[in-house]
Amino acid sequence: MAKIGINIATGSLQQAEMIVGIDLGTTNSLIAIIHPESKQPTALREHNTSSLVPSIVHFDPYGNPVVGEEAKKFLETDPQNTIFSAKRLMGKSYKDIKEHSGFFTYKVIDDDTESLVKVQVGDRFFSPIDLSSFILKELKQRAEHILKTPVTKAVITVPAYFNDAQRQATRDAGKLAGLDVMRIINEPTAASLAYGLGLRKDEEKTIAVYDLGGGTFDISILKINSGIFEVLSTNGDTYLGGDDLDRTIVKYWMSEVGITEEELRQNKALSQGLRLRAEEAKKHLSSNDIFSIDWNGETLAITKTKFEELIKPLIGKTIECCTNALADSKLTAKDIDTIVMVGGCTRVPAVKEAVSAFFGKPVNDSVNPDEVVALGAAVQADILAGNNKDFLLLDITPLSLGIETMGGLMDVLIPRNAKIPTKVGRQYTTQKDGQADMRISVFQGERDLVKDNRKLAEFSLKGIPGMPAGLPKVEVSFLINADGILVVKAKELRSGVEQSIEVKPQYGLTDEEVEKMLMDSITHAKGDMQVRALVEARTEGEQILSVTEKFIAKNTSLLSKDELVSTAAAMQALQLALTMEDKDLIHTKIEALNEISRPFAERAMDQAVSGALKGKTITS
Ligand code: ADP
Ligand code: MG
Repeated sequence: MAKIGINIATGSLQQAEMIVGIDLGTTNSLIAIIHPESKQPTALREHNTSSLVPSIVHFDPYGNPVVGEEAKKFLETDPQNTIFSAKRLMGKSYKDIKEHSGFFTYKVIDDDTESLVKVQVGDRFFSPIDLSSFILKELKQRAEHILKTPVTKAVITVPAYFNDAQRQATRDAGKLAGLDVMRIINEPTAASLAYGLGLRKDEEKTIAVYDLGGGTFDISILKINSGIFEVLSTNGDTYLGGDDLDRTIVKYWMSEVGITEEELRQNKALSQGLRLRAEEAKKHLSSNDIFSIDWNGETLAITKTKFEELIKPLIGKTIECCTNALADSKLTAKDIDTIVMVGGCTRVPAVKEAVSAFFGKPVNDSVNPDEVVALGAAVQADILAGNNKDFLLLDITPLSLGIETMGGLMDVLIPRNAKIPTKVGRQYTTQKDGQADMRISVFQGERDLVKDNRKLAEFSLKGIPGMPAGLPKVEVSFLINADGILVVKAKELRSGVEQSIEVKPQYGLTDEEVEKMLMDSITHAKGDMQVRALVEARTEGEQILSVTEKFIAKNTSLLSKDELVSTAAAMQALQLALTMEDKDLIHTKIEALNEISRPFAERAMDQAVSGALKGKTITS
């Protein structure tokens, strides 16, 4: 029977599991879910308000943070205490942002070192993680208010070019905000998902995602194949976006009305006012031919034609980035199947036209470009929540993962193309009597011998209590979490000693290397199989020799002289076969030795069992 949860605080029914999608943007952030009734991705908004929350944090004189529209008001009136674009600082040191330090109107700690930047507000210091967590907390509270249920799990998006440190910083911000970050996904991947791209199993497509936001421009070329998104290349300009379009209009009006740069610098209210009117004009011109208002007794006007003329060089820059991205992915415009438009500024018709002309086909712009990333994150969240069983989980392991066993063989625990997260366990045992340590070597690749694969890690399970060979039960488990981190654990089940290690299988492997490893396994398949069969036969032969040897040493009295002689001969024959490259010969000799030893082995068993009944322990 299914259980229905009730939220004690609000009395409302709780859903099985709600995971939200969050676009943590440089300019605007928002939260989206799959609507429980319509099943459509939906951005959350309080009635009659925008779904967008400006990514701005203002601190009042007591140091209390306010986020969103409320904070935006303070951009010009209280710039030192109003933090915008915190995302630009994620995972960065002052060295990284030095070149653009003039951009920030608040105090960024400028000790010129490798350490991560902090922002100073009054006498308090905030890391970009702290600042992002304030934004996430605000989004979480909003969502809880609208949904009337606690929101604790989220998928958060990041730019495709974010490195490990920046992704981890985003994850930490989520944690600080009280969110369990189920997965970090790339913004262009999310945007594609919102268009339903990549959800069909047999789909193979090359996609360009053009994202012109408030302050940044990104172009990403993605390849989707059977639900797997691969970033072929990214390009862009981290200081080019809607703000620059606004600035062209401000400049135009200044010359029209007769305002100097100096006046603008002196008069904050003037510059703030002009900037806001310019943004208004830009938005208006996305669906009208002329903008005109009266402002302080002056007429501020601009036509669409004029605006397009002004922004032409800026659009040109983005197209240049597209050219570079295509070149990096070794593709041409013709190879792109679908173009996805993201970011508020792609509403500008001239932008759409330029992109469409460059790629030679119409662009996809039917989904709201401000919301498309969050909507896609919600689609991914829904798949993770298990509500959408028709769709593939999007991440798989590109190469097999396993450990080294006797004779240098690769024993695969997680085969390639396994869906992640995943967990697999298998039992192994010791090779020598009294063996206290067991070395676990983790490899990645498709070849049968570990020497042809890539070693990821190695560790030793120490302190296995003294036992005869073959008796300890060592369970080796592989767990790959949703972030692709592999945790390998070894545990001796009788004694409970255990040891584990964490590795990143993908780390440092380029796509070409993965492809080469796959190709190698195909070209070497036959040879590999033969080698494996030989190694397995040898291992088996060696084990039987060692067991027989031990048995005879202990039970000489049970064996007749003839048996001793024939056993010795069979052992010698097997020993000799092991030195040759013939697995069939080894098998024949193993069989022969078994034939001879079977009768006395059975006799010894009876003895041991009756001995045990008298209170002794069975040992081999
Ligand atoms: P980010 O991804 O950087 O957080 P967004 O995708 O939210 O940014 O884009 C914000 C930018 O989009 C702002 O510069 C805003 O002025 C611009 N914008 C929003 N609506 C429109 C519109 N209708 N026409 C042109 N630009 C718009
Ligand atoms: Mg964005």
